[in-house]
Parts: sequence; C-alpha cells; structure tokens
Amino acid sequence: MSQLKFEEDSLRSTKRIVILGSGFAGIEVLKKLQKKFHSNKNIEITLVSKDNFLLFTPMLPEVASGMIETRHIVTPVRSFCKKAKFYEANVESIDLDNRQVTLTHSIGRQSQPNDWREHTLKYDYLVIALGSENNFFNMSDIQKHSFTMKSIGDAIILRNHIINILEQASLEEDNKELRKSLLTFVVVGGGFNGVETVGALNDFIRESIICYYKNIYMTEVRVILVHTTDKLLEQIDEPLGKFALKKLKASGVEFIMNSHVIDATANSVKLDNVNNAIIPCYTLIWTAGVTPSKLIADLPCEHDKGHRIVANNYLEVLGHNGVYVLGDCACITDPHTGKPYPPTAQHAIRQGKVAAKNIISSIKGEGENKKAKFDYKTKGMMAEIGKRAGVATILGFKLHGFVAWWLWRTYYLGNLPTIKKKLKVMGDWTSDLISKPDVAMIKRPDIESSFDNTQKPSTSNLKRTESQ
Ligand SMILES: Cc1cc2nc3c(=O)[nH]c(=O)nc-3n(C[C@H](O)[C@H](O)[C@H](O)COP(=O)(O)OP(=O)(O)OC[C@H]3O[C@@H](n4cnc5c(N)ncnc54)[C@H](O)[C@@H]3O)c2cc1C
Repeated sequence: MSQLKFEEDSLRSTKRIVILGSGFAGIEVLKKLQKKFHSNKNIEITLVSKDNFLLFTPMLPEVASGMIETRHIVTPVRSFCKKAKFYEANVESIDLDNRQVTLTHSIGRQSQPNDWREHTLKYDYLVIALGSENNFFNMSDIQKHSFTMKSIGDAIILRNHIINILEQASLEEDNKELRKSLLTFVVVGGGFNGVETVGALNDFIRESIICYYKNIYMTEVRVILVHTTDKLLEQIDEPLGKFALKKLKASGVEFIMNSHVIDATANSVKLDNVNNAIIPCYTLIWTAGVTPSKLIADLPCEHDKGHRIVANNYLEVLGHNGVYVLGDCACITDPHTGKPYPPTAQHAIRQGKVAAKNIISSIKGEGENKKAKFDYKTKGMMAEIGKRAGVATILGFKLHGFVAWWLWRTYYLGNLPTIKKKLKVMGDWTSDLISKPDVAMIKRPDIESSFDNTQKPSTSNLKRTESQ
C-alpha cells in the first residue's frame, strides 16, 4: 500500500516534505532543503515540533548553574524558516501506509488550555527526527522524584530547586539531620550529561555558599555521582575518564561507582550496592539513559533492541519509500565498526545533511547511484567538567584540563546558531569571570507551584523548631 501510494504521489507536481522535530537533525535538513529549493514553488516544506526553538544542549548544564541565561541557548525555529512553514504542535501519530501525520495543539492558556485541536498533514517525503526521552527503566518512583537534564525547562526547574534548597538549609540551622539531607545532591549517570551536570552544579553550589550562605559550612555539602561501572565517560576514552574523575574529586564531588540507583522517595535514594545503602537527600538528578518516545517505538517498522527505528545507510526507513529517520531516534549502523552510531549532536547534524541530499536527489529523479551514504568518522568528543577544566579527544589527540576546556568553549561557541546568541553567551561567560553567582530564584507558578515554600501548609502539617 505504502509503495502504491508513493508511486501515485510521485505523479503530483507539488512535493510536500514534512520534517518532524526541531532538534539538531531536523533543523539541519530544513536548512539544506530550503537552500536548494528556495525559489521552487513546487516544493512545500513544513516543519513540526512541540518546541518552537532549537535547543543547544551542550550548554544546558551551564544554564542549570545560572552561568548562561536561559534564552541564550535557544534559537527560534522561525528564524530558520526562510521558505518553510512551521507548526508548533505535538506529533500525535504517523500513518506510514496513508502517508500522513496527525498533529494536536491546545487552544487558550498554555497552563489551562480550553480545547485541543487536531490537524492532518499529508507528505510525499517525511523526515522523522523526534529525538529521545529520559529512560527510567520502568522505575516509576525514580521518575516521580528525580530531576532531569534534557530540556530547557529541566534546567530552569533544577536551578530554582537548588537555590530553594540552599535557602531552606540556611534556615534549618538547628536541625542538623535535615540540613545534611538538604545539602546532599545526587546525580545518576557517568556519561556526558551526568559528568557535565555534576561539574557545573558542584561549582555553582559551592560558589553560592561561599558568596552568600555564610551559615552553611562546606563540610555539610555532599555532591555525589552514582555510576553503574567503574569508568566515567566511556564514550570518550578511558584515561580521559580517569582525569575527569580525579579533577571532579579534587573539586569535592564524591563518587559511588559500580552501583545502580534502584528506588527513590522525596527525601531519599536507594542503591543496589552492599547493604542497599540509602542516601537521605532532596535532590536526585537522573541522567542515566535515553530512549525514543512511545510514538517512535510503536511505529510499524523495524526497530533495534532500544526501540530506535532502523534505517539503512541512506537513512531511509526500510519498506517505506520517501521516509527518513535520523538523530537520537534512529539506529544507523556504522559500516566500519558494525555498531550503531552514537546519539550525539554531531552525528544528528551530519545525518541531516545526508537525508537532505537524498531527498533532493529523489525529487530530481536521479538514480540509485546518486544517493549519498551516511559514513561518518567521529572527529572527536569533548566534555566540560566544571569551571576551566575539560577533556577532549580530537583527531586522535587527547587533551585535558584548561586547553580542553578552552577548546570546548571555542568549538561550541562557534557552533551556536546566530551571531546574536554567540554574543550573548560570550557576555554571560565574561560576566561569570568577574562576578559572583546569581542566586535570584524567579518562581514560575505555572510549572513550579510546588516550590513555593512561602505558601503555608495547614498547621497539622507544620513541624516546628522553636527559636531561642
Ligand atoms: C545535557 C546534554 C548535553 C549534551 N551534550 C552534547 C555534546 O556536548 N555533544 C554532542 O554531540 N551531543 C550532546 N548531547 C546530545 C545531543 O543533544 C543529541 O544527540 C541531539 O540533540 C540529537 O538531536 P535530534 O535532532 O535527534 O534530537 P533533539 O535535539 O532531541 O530534537 C528532537 C526534537 O523533536 C521534538 N519532538 C519530540 N517529540 C515530539 C512530538 N511528539 N511532537 C512534536 N515534536 C516533538 C522536540 O521538541 C525536539 O525539537 C547532549 C544532550 C544533553 C541532554
């Protein structure tokens, strides 16, 4: 049916290209297709995403630590749409047989929508670039009680939570036990996200205490990273992982290696190590894995064990002409290693270029031999591990410390979209060099009502500490 529909549709003079997702992969396809077809009236390009911006994830931990202002790492999708239409909506379903996508969006106030509307988009070419979600491995209590570090909302909520916790700890001078658990921060996951997050938050917490919370002692603070193996940053390189461990330990981070977090409550974390240790804490940050959304996992096409859609090296979804999948939701095999390419921004961007080339080639009616293969050798990997320290492997060279940190900043600043955002981030970094951390906590009642500790509970819930 899909093949028949594709052949029917290929007779139409106007070609409809629908791109799902405004992440690194989706935006790259969009840019390349617009460049090629900017004055071609027979090509309609539509981008759909639930976010109306491109989020520059490598700088997300710096937003959570307040070093970079929230809006400086997001770029409006509409600023990329020179020809394309953009719809901010949720992709509800993809009908691969009838070659159409269903979208939903709310009407009215964002926090209390009055109504929901549904729309259908037909396509001749479809690019699925819907990224991934946090994977809690079916541990619902951990999901309920943890913070995550995947979206800009996550970074805002986490920063507010940490400042709020410091305020609470400062007030609880007499209750040593409560204060200790308030000042214990647990990050789970020793990959890129976990290591960068723990580095940024550790610096932020300690600097804020030194500058503003004079009644909190550094000896009361615990920032802990829990990881399942004995190596950090396994994607980068073993010696560099060791360097990161040493450097973070020197900055005060504690490590619990070869352990899994298996349960959590609002004020504790349980580990699977000896004696099933329980860590009393009010902050659990989960960075231990990603998985594609249910929408992707349920699509009737081939998936890998992790529910990602399997694509061939032309990034085509097997058995569905004109449908491409890329980025974190795709499983594409590296022909040199036989393993899937890792889910990183650098791969998503390169895949975006190849998918665009293949769509252009198909629209032009070029033969199979003109199709481009995705064959990319990772140029390098870099991670920032706190202020003025990083690790990097670049073209076979291994670097760590200040040089790696400087390269990280130079590279990612260069890749941040638009001159305006680059200047803003440079300004944030410069101001961070010469000023104290900013601990102003602006509460967003629509997303953080539970954080308002000035809302008095009923007296029966109040636990009192009489002041002397
Ligand atoms: C904190 C952090 C740091 C990172 N650091 C690095 C790094 O230093 N280097 C690196 O290479 N990679 C890094 N990564 C990984 C990188 O961000 C991802 O690999 C990359 O974003 C994948 O791109 P993508 O386009 O596939 O997905 P994404 O960028 O996640 O984009 C997915 C898009 O789909 C949209 N979407 C999803 N579901 C729906 C739906 N149902 N309806 C509508 N829209 C939907 C989302 O809103 C989003 O716009 C980091 C990731 C994180 C979280």
